[in-house]
Order: sequence, then C-alpha cells, then structure tokens
Amino acid sequence: MTYYPDGSPYTYHKPGEGMVNVGWLDDAHDYQQGEVAEEVVDGLLRLVIDPDNQTRGLHECDFCGALYLMVDNPHAESGSSLLGTAEIHVRSSSDTVFVAPTLVIHYIVEHGYRPPDEFLDAVEVEVRRRSVEQV
Ligand SMILES: [Zn+2]
Repeated sequence: MTYYPDGSPYTYHKPGEGMVNVGWLDDAHDYQQGEVAEEVVDGLLRLVIDPDNQTRGLHECDFCGALYLMVDNPHAESGSSLLGTAEIHVRSSSDTVFVAPTLVIHYIVEHGYRPPDEFLDAVEVEVRRRSVEQV
C-alpha cells in the first residue's frame, strides 16, 4: 500500500481542504504502537459500514500479506466487513477530516497500531454525529 505519514495532508483521491492522513502504513516505516480503546474500534466498525471512496482497488496488508480481509462486524447486516477497498473519513470537533484506509481496523487489531489521539477522539465525535443524523 502507499505510505503516508500520520498527520500529513491527504492528496490521494479527491483531496479537500483540511484533510489529513491517518493509518497509511507499510512495512518500511515504523508506526506508533499501543492500546486502543474498545469503544474506538467499535466506532470504526460502525463507520466502515458506510465508507468513503469505495472501489478504488484492493489493498493488501503490508505486514502479513492478507488480502480480502474480512473482519467480524456486529454492526454490519452480514455480520462482517471487507477491509482494504475504501476509506473511512472522520471529522473532528475542530473540523479536521482524517482519512484512513479501512485497513486501519486490521492494523489496530492485528498489528498493535495506535493512531494519533486526535484521530481516536474524532472517531467518537464522528460516530455521535452520524447516529444523530440517522434519527
Ligand atoms: Zn496484517
């Protein structure tokens, strides 16, 4: 997959104002590791149901080579979600839009990746925003 440092301006696909990369990892670069709260992972599983920029190809995991990665997803109708084919856009309370590959869920769960705190906070903000919109 293409590597972008966390926090760099997003330029990949239909870039917009204030968009920032998160979680575009590869095995040639170190990444921050650590615990991620279950609520954040749960939030990402909710957001991955309605991803952005779908079908621009399939990304494999650079660390374990997994392709067509399915994760169990209690929020998806089918009970699982395919990762590596789309992006998750997450708007923070200060209007930064973080753009992460859906693979970010796999990186967190399987490879111990810890995204920047601003992103983790923004996931909760985004989940709340979308659940309000759906009511
Ligand atoms: Zn992997």
